[in-house]
Amino acid sequence: MRVGVVGLGIMGGPMAMHLHKAGFLAAVYNRTRAKAEPFAKLGVYVAESPADLARRVDVVIVMVSDGPDVEQVLFGPGGVAEGARPGLVVVDMSTNSPDWARRFAERLAQLGVEFLDAPVTGGQRGAVEGTLTVMVGGREETFQRLLPVFKAFGRNVIYVGPVGYGQAMKLVNQVVVALNTVAMVEGLRLAKALGLDMEKVAQVLTGGAARSGSIELYLPKLLKGDLSPGFKAAHLKKDLAYVMEQANRLSLFLPATSLALELYKKMVEKGLGELGTHALGEVY
Ligand code: NAP
Repeated sequence: MRVGVVGLGIMGGPMAMHLHKAGFLAAVYNRTRAKAEPFAKLGVYVAESPADLARRVDVVIVMVSDGPDVEQVLFGPGGVAEGARPGLVVVDMSTNSPDWARRFAERLAQLGVEFLDAPVTGGQRGAVEGTLTVMVGGREETFQRLLPVFKAFGRNVIYVGPVGYGQAMKLVNQVVVALNTVAMVEGLRLAKALGLDMEKVAQVLTGGAARSGSIELYLPKLLKGDLSPGFKAAHLKKDLAYVMEQANRLSLFLPATSLALELYKKMVEKGLGELGTHALGEVY
């Protein structure tokens, strides 16, 4: 199976590197070419466009920012659709929404191309260490066929249901991630104001009932004053907006998530969206 990766950012770059080590990677494409250089040095083909990449591979993995970005990569000028042939599989691993996933699947099906939505969780560290959790929506047979590809960077690879279910699962995950992150930021503010020793605070929060993946990933960075992403605040704002879109449609009351969205919106409005999600204290 020849795999191509479109989008070599914080997540896509290290994921593609694992695919290279596993012998799957046949081509990469990144809008800003500089991020493809490390791959060029390894002899990996750097495509001129997503269409050029699609012509050379059996599986296209897309790891860009938001739904409209995936749409552009798939159906825009020079997009995957232009280089697609029946039998090609497209896997969107970015986080967007079940609605986007179903639209992508329908449009690609007209070209004989199959689609899986397979967002991930585990942060930059999970991508670098190859320990991501992958949640996959689409045809189960196709999921099984692509399992070795997902295993190249994933420790937990979970089939969740038909197209759209991967993104649905990811939205649930993001509710928990966001509220954990807000909790960490507020807990640390209180700890500081109460004059506690931050090293001891870290020992308690990573040891007891308050511990979580988000805290383990981002508390050490926050204590060092390192506000760089990790996971960009703008991306979490995007995810929470998709959560609230679903919640509103279902008339579901999610007051804490709604508040978290307002906080991250504020962060983005202040021009801080490229900082990590753990930098939320900057808007308080
Ligand atoms: P990132 O570092 O901002 O990278 C985004 C990538 O998408 C870059 O390669 C960028 O290209 C490309 N891109 C964006 N818009 C594009 C467009 N319209 N056309 C072509 N390329 C485009 O983001 P990331 O952290 O890797 O996240 C990628 C996705 O994974 C997001 O959906 C995010 O929510 C999700 N995610 C992130 C994490 C995390 O902890 N970081 C964890 C799980 C899931 P350029 O280099 O040209 O800008």
